[in-house]
Amino acid sequence: MSFHRNVAAMRGRVPLAVAAAVALMLVFLPGADGAPAHPPQAVQTVPKSVVRAADEALPTVTVVATGGTMAGLSDTPTSFQRYRAGTLLMEDMLAEVPNLDEVANVNSLQFGNKGSGGYTIAELYDLSLAVDNALKTSDGVVVTTGTDTMEEIGYFLDLTVQSPKPVVITGAMRPWTVIGSDAQANLFNAIVTAASGKTAWFGTVLMLNDEIHAVRDVTKTSSYRMDTFQTPELGILGYVDDLKVRIMRMPARALRVFETRGSVVTTANALRNWRTPFDLTTIDKAELPRVEIFYNAQEAGGEAIDAWAAAGVEGIVTAGTGAGGISGAASQARNRAVQAGVMFASTTRTGSGSVYGGSGAVFPADSLNAQHARLLLMMALAFNDGVEEVRADFIEWASLQADITSALPSLRTS
Ligand code: ASP
Repeated sequence: MSFHRNVAAMRGRVPLAVAAAVALMLVFLPGADGAPAHPPQAVQTVPKSVVRAADEALPTVTVVATGGTMAGLSDTPTSFQRYRAGTLLMEDMLAEVPNLDEVANVNSLQFGNKGSGGYTIAELYDLSLAVDNALKTSDGVVVTTGTDTMEEIGYFLDLTVQSPKPVVITGAMRPWTVIGSDAQANLFNAIVTAASGKTAWFGTVLMLNDEIHAVRDVTKTSSYRMDTFQTPELGILGYVDDLKVRIMRMPARALRVFETRGSVVTTANALRNWRTPFDLTTIDKAELPRVEIFYNAQEAGGEAIDAWAAAGVEGIVTAGTGAGGISGAASQARNRAVQAGVMFASTTRTGSGSVYGGSGAVFPADSLNAQHARLLLMMALAFNDGVEEVRADFIEWASLQADITSALPSLRTS
């Protein structure tokens, strides 16, 4: 009997926490050669486990699970911060969530099971394709990840998923198996959000703590608190109250759908305005270049920038002071790196606000934070040749804004 079916067979007879503890022992018990007796599960590519019989009146939602604290197994029911992240299986977790049959036909795909920081960029490439693939047959996708790099994983999806159907990323600050965990409620409310269809065309949104954020704008602000995700300056898009998804504003990306450029809004022009040029099916994952982040501080040295340039890093994001400034030494190192062909994006370490200006191979990242700008620079470098092309794509998506006046009656009197 496979490891997976072992766990499934135990479900119903013993609580999930006990089943998972046994599963953990099975996974980590070394074999004779010192290797784990049961190799890690292969990545699934086809969604499985329809949780309940399909109800044709309800939308279908696929949960693509990657692990994190949500799938965490705690040492005790009160060890809020002592737990093994990425341990429980989504199929088993969904079986413990009540009332899903009122919301959606839910299936799941166990993409992986580890902490968010453990995923490589190449794995995020695969994750993005898995999400688009699931959206061919589902009305919406929920992606579960750890919260540490959720804003990065989410923005990677935001930039690359081709379908405008809802993609909702969620996780938890407390593991599944402690009292007062936010894991079950976050999973449920993320499915409610995806099933509502109300975030179609929004790009990837993040739902945690009942709040819905544009993943482009959100950031993790606390290492432990459950309201850790905040969107500086712009605020939340809406929230989930007792099965009701209440959207209060649209992100610029969704508003751009209404930019008609002289014609009526059709699916074709909506898609043209909405889609990024970063279609991963057109490149190999090995083409995604290395991009690093330089954090500026008082009299910061430039050695890290020199070393990255020498190591073949193609892009560097600077998290500068105030409106993006970096030290003299860092600035000289940046000049040397530009001569060597490295491209730069300037951000601010302040936590909010925009960076403008820059010229040549130094691009302003507008209101993107450094970790978001890093992913956009990676995409712009992978999909373009030469400074001018990279710069144009980077700036278009960094300074994403909407002007929907073309879709509305003119109010000019003269
Ligand atoms: N270390 C965990 C992770 O990012 C934390 C979390 O899941 O919230 O995977």
